[in-house]
Amino acid sequence: MSALPGDTLRGLLAAVHDGNGDPFLLDADGSVTHTYADAARRSAQLAHALAARGAAPGERVAVQVAKSAEAIMVYLACVRAGYVLLPMNTGYTADEVAYLVGDARPVVVLDDERLAELGEQAHTMPTTFTDHAATPDELAAILYTSGTTGRPKGAMLSQRNLASNSATLAELWGFRPGDVLLHALPIFHTHGLFVATNCSIANGSPMVFLERFDADEVVRALPRCTVMMGVPTFYTRLLTHEGFGPDACRSMRLFISGSAPLLASVHDEFRARTGHAILERYGMTETSMLTSNPLDGERRPGTVGFALPGVDVRVVDDDGRVVSSGEVGGIEVRGPNVFAGYWGRPELTATEFAADGWFRTGDVGMFDADGYLHIVGRSKDLIISGGLNVYPKEIEDVIDGLDGVLESAVVGVPDADFGEAVVAIVVAATGADPEPAALRAAARERLAAFKVPKRVHVVDALPRNAMGKVEKAVLRRRFETGDETGPGPGAGDVS
Ligand code: AMP
Repeated sequence: MSALPGDTLRGLLAAVHDGNGDPFLLDADGSVTHTYADAARRSAQLAHALAARGAAPGERVAVQVAKSAEAIMVYLACVRAGYVLLPMNTGYTADEVAYLVGDARPVVVLDDERLAELGEQAHTMPTTFTDHAATPDELAAILYTSGTTGRPKGAMLSQRNLASNSATLAELWGFRPGDVLLHALPIFHTHGLFVATNCSIANGSPMVFLERFDADEVVRALPRCTVMMGVPTFYTRLLTHEGFGPDACRSMRLFISGSAPLLASVHDEFRARTGHAILERYGMTETSMLTSNPLDGERRPGTVGFALPGVDVRVVDDDGRVVSSGEVGGIEVRGPNVFAGYWGRPELTATEFAADGWFRTGDVGMFDADGYLHIVGRSKDLIISGGLNVYPKEIEDVIDGLDGVLESAVVGVPDADFGEAVVAIVVAATGADPEPAALRAAARERLAAFKVPKRVHVVDALPRNAMGKVEKAVLRRRFETGDETGPGPGAGDVS
C-alpha cells in the first residue's frame, strides 16, 4: 500500500468526504447499514447543525453518548469542520461530566437526548459541506485520561498526532482492499475511536460495527471479517465460547490486542485453538500507538514488539540514562504522535516531559536481546518492600504459571515492617481451588524471599475497567488490611 497522508485527519479520512457508494458500516449479519456516501451526507448535515449551535473550528464539542453510527458521524463532522472532539466515557457520572465541561468549556455538549435533537435538526441541513482546511498543528481532539489519583486530565491531540499514527498503523498492519474490520470497542477511547475507526476509514473499507462486545454476536460476525481489534478480555471471552474456533476465523487474517497486557497463556491458547498468533501492540491516550509486534515475523507472547516507524522509544534509569537491553527502566517516547500537552495544565505538562523533550509514559519496561519491548508495569505500581524494588509483573508471571491459577494481580500495600508488603490476588483456574499457603510456598521456590507475596487472596474475578485494565487502585484499597477474604468483585463490563 502506498503511504497514506498523515498530516491531517481530513487528508487521512478522505474516503468520507469523497463519499462513494462503498460500504462503510455493516451489522453483525453483514448487511450494509451505511455507505461512504451516507457518511459524507450525514457528516455534512451534522457539521452544519453543530455550526448552527455555535461550533466553529477550534471550539470543543463534548459527547457522552451510546455507541452508534450517528456518534461516528458526529466524529466525522468534527473532522470535516475542524471542531475539537471531546469524547467522554459513557460510565462517567454527572459530577465527572460537570468537571470535564467546566475544564474544557465546550460550546456544545451532547448526551443521547441532545444528540437525538441535533440529529432531527440536521435532517433539514444541506448534505454537502465545505471542509475546514485544518493545519497539522491544529487540535483535533481532547481525550481525558485519569491516573489512579487526581482529576482526569485532557490530553490535547493535534491533527498530525492522530493522522500520522493511523497512517502508520494502517500500513504496518497491512490494511488492504477487501478488509473488513470487526469493531466491538467503545468509541470514547483512543483504541476504538482512533486506532480502529481511523485505520478502517483510511483504508476506505467497511467495519462490522457492534454496539458492544457480545461473544455470541462476535462469533456470528467473524466469518465475514478479516481483522479484529480488541482488549485482552475480548480474547479470553472468545476462548470460553463453545462456537469459537477455526471455522469462525476462516476469513480472518489478523487479530490485534492492546490497552492492557495479554497473558502469554491466552496468546498460546488462542493460537492452539485458531492457528492465529494475536498481534499485541502498546500505546496510550497521550501518544496513540507506540510499539507493535510484527505483521510478518515472530509475534512474541508477553511482549509489545518494536517501536513503530517514525516513533522513538527508549528505556531509562532514574537519572535519565538509557539502560542496556535486559535492564528495566522507565519508558520514554517521542515522535509526531506524541500529544501537545494537557489542556490548561502547563505545569503538569512540563513535569511529564524529560528535559530533552521525550515524554515519560509512566510505564516501566525492558527491551530483550532481540529488541522486543516488555512492559513490566506502571511506575506507580512499583512496590518497594524493605527497600527493595519489586516489579509486580515478575511476580504475576510466576504465580500465573502455578497449578490451579488462571490469573493474578500483585499490588503493594502499606506495611509497618517493610514499608510496603507484596500482596497477590489470584483467580483460580476452572475447577481448581488453590490454597493460599501452597501458592506462597510454590512461589518461594521460584522467587527471592523479599518478592514472595506476604498474603495471597483468592477471588472470583479481578476488577477491570472499560478497557480491560485491572484496577490495581481498587485492589490496593480492598486488600490494604489482611481481613479481606470474601469473593472478588465481578469483572467490569468491557464495552
Ligand atoms: P490509556 O491511556 O487508557 O490507553 O492507557 C494506557 C496504558 O495502558 C499504558 O500506559 C500502559 O500502561 C497500558 N497498556 C496499553 N497497552 C498495553 C499492552 N499491550 N500491554 C501492557 N500494558 C498496556
